[in-house]
Order: sequence, then C-alpha cells, then structure tokens
Amino acid sequence: MIIPKGPKLTKAQLEEVTRIVADFSCQIQVIEGAVQSIYAIVGDERHELLINRIEGLDYIDRVDTIQSPHKLLDARSELKNHKTVFGGIEFGKELLAIGGPCTIDPKNPSRFYETAAALKEAGAHALRGGVWKPRTNPYSYQGDDAALEILMEGSQRTGLPVNAEVMDEGHLRLALEAGVHMLQIGTRNALNYSLLRQVGQSIAGRDTVVLLKRGRHVGPLNEFISAAEYIVNFGNPNVMLCPRGTLPTLEGYRNHPDESITPLLKEKTWAPVVVDPSHSVGKSLYVEACSLAAVAYGADGLCIEANVDPSSGLGDDPKQAVTPEVFQSIVKKCQAVWDLRA
Ligand code: PEP
Ligand code: MN
Repeated sequence: MIIPKGPKLTKAQLEEVTRIVADFSCQIQVIEGAVQSIYAIVGDERHELLINRIEGLDYIDRVDTIQSPHKLLDARSELKNHKTVFGGIEFGKELLAIGGPCTIDPKNPSRFYETAAALKEAGAHALRGGVWKPRTNPYSYQGDDAALEILMEGSQRTGLPVNAEVMDEGHLRLALEAGVHMLQIGTRNALNYSLLRQVGQSIAGRDTVVLLKRGRHVGPLNEFISAAEYIVNFGNPNVMLCPRGTLPTLEGYRNHPDESITPLLKEKTWAPVVVDPSHSVGKSLYVEACSLAAVAYGADGLCIEANVDPSSGLGDDPKQAVTPEVFQSIVKKCQAVWDLRA
C-alpha cells in the first residue's frame, strides 16, 4: 500500500509509480478517499527493491506491506501445524524447562555432573551448558573444546538432551559431531546472517533444534523473526524464539526484560517461544518473577541458568544462576501459571 505525502498523486507521479511496480509484475489499484487517496500494489509486494524504489521517491510518505516478509515463520504458513518436540515435550502441551550453568568449567567436570543430576531431579527436561563463550572482555574465560565432552557426558548420565551455543563454523561442526541436541545462537550473533545460514544448512535433514536468542540491540520484531526464517528456509523448522532482554538496560537489571513480546511473537508466528529470564534480569533474585511473567505472557518454555554452587561457577553463574532447589520451585510455580492459562 503506497501512501503519498500529499492528498493524492498527480497524473505524472501515478504513471511513474505504475511503471516501477510493473517492473515487478505488479499493478496499481487507486483507492480514492475524500481527504487522502492511497494506492494498493496488486501482486507480490514483498520485493525489497520495489519498496526501496518507491520509498525513494520524494513525493511518497511510505509503503505499508500487508504480506509478511517471513513467509515460512508466518502464523498463517503451512508450517503452522509443525509440531516441535524437544526433551520429550511437545510444545504447547507442557512447559519446557531447560536448566544448567552459564559455562561448563573444564577443570571441574563433576560440578557439571552434580548440577545435571540435581536439575533432572528438579524437573528439568533438558540441560544447558556453555562450551564456547561470547565474552565482552577479551581477557575473560572464552570457553574450551574440552567442555563439549563434559556436556555430552552429562547428557549421557542423565538421559537429557543438551544445549550449547555455537559462534562459528568450527563450533557448529564439533557440536553436531558430538550430538548436541539444541544449538544456541546467542544474542551477539542473532543477526549474523552467514552463521544463521550455516546453521540452517547443517541441521537440514536432522532432528537438531535451534534456540535463537533475540539480538540485544533491539530492532523491530520482524528482524528477529526474519533471522529465524534464515534457518527454517533450509528445511528444518525446529527453531525456537528466545527473548533474553535487550538494551537499554533497566537500572538494576542486566538488560531490559522483554518477555512481554511473547504474545506478539505468538500472534505473528507459529514458532515456540522459550524465554531466558536469567540474562534478561541478570540477578538470581529476580529470575523467579521474570519466569512467572514469561509464562503468564504465554511462553512455551524457559531456559534458566542453574548451578549447584553458583558462587564457584564461571561466567554469569555467581550473579544469575539459581540453585536446583530454586529451579524446582520456579518451575513448580510456573506450572501453576501455565495451568491458569489453559
Ligand atoms: C548464555 O546463554 O550464556 C549467553 C551468553 O547468552 P546470550 O547470548 O543471551 O547473552
Ligand atoms: Mn550466561
């Protein structure tokens, strides 16, 4: 839909616009209003170049598109009936609870095994554990390939599937070879289109799932959804959208909690929403409230940082990990909110 700056296009302007849309096999339908006329584009209006060429005309205010730019993720797409199953949970039927440390300490494997066993006991359906870490400070611990073996051993011992973040092609290859069940794309790589494409290509034809975090440099929701479209486009639709807090930070919290976008994501797409309350608020004290809010907003799952001894953990654990006891209590309360939603 083309909206001109003035009340209507002149004859010459209408001819110019008509010529442009014709280059994309579209036509113009004039909708004359008493005060303002608008111009419908008849045909596939999603061509970025078509929109750019029209928006570049100095007499045009804007072009509003009705069709979704993410045709596979769209709530109306044929994939809407796709059922993602992970950790024995079919999305929408039960709340998915993922727990584990921010970072696996390769010098202390037993800490991860203890945490994994305690979380299983506490009701976790899957484990998380950072192997390679995107750290703001280049001198902080950056992760270690050795942690991958520990992660997989934790999976073996508990029978639970595991999540690990991948930041490049090397990580991706190692993670898939080791059998990591859920690949995480972190907030810093949320718009790394070449990584998104590599992940999409590598998981095509497998049952691997992807947890796509929302970029912290907030863009429109379509930007987040389109990032998921990059992955699904290669044929594996098992992608989960993960709000995890954005900028600007809210004083006292690590980020600006954004679990409230859940209903909007669910309205626009069919993809499951798994909220990460830990990075959102950044303090273990607030993780419960954020988790409850996420479930109240309609989240399908939670990914919570947890450690049997947060204070001796690496990465974010001393600040934001909860103990397995607290994890259990959060999941139980969230279950009650889930039941209220039904
Ligand atoms: C993490 O999960 O530990 C992490 C680094 O996540 P994010 O990309 O959301 O910061
Ligand atoms: Mn972390």
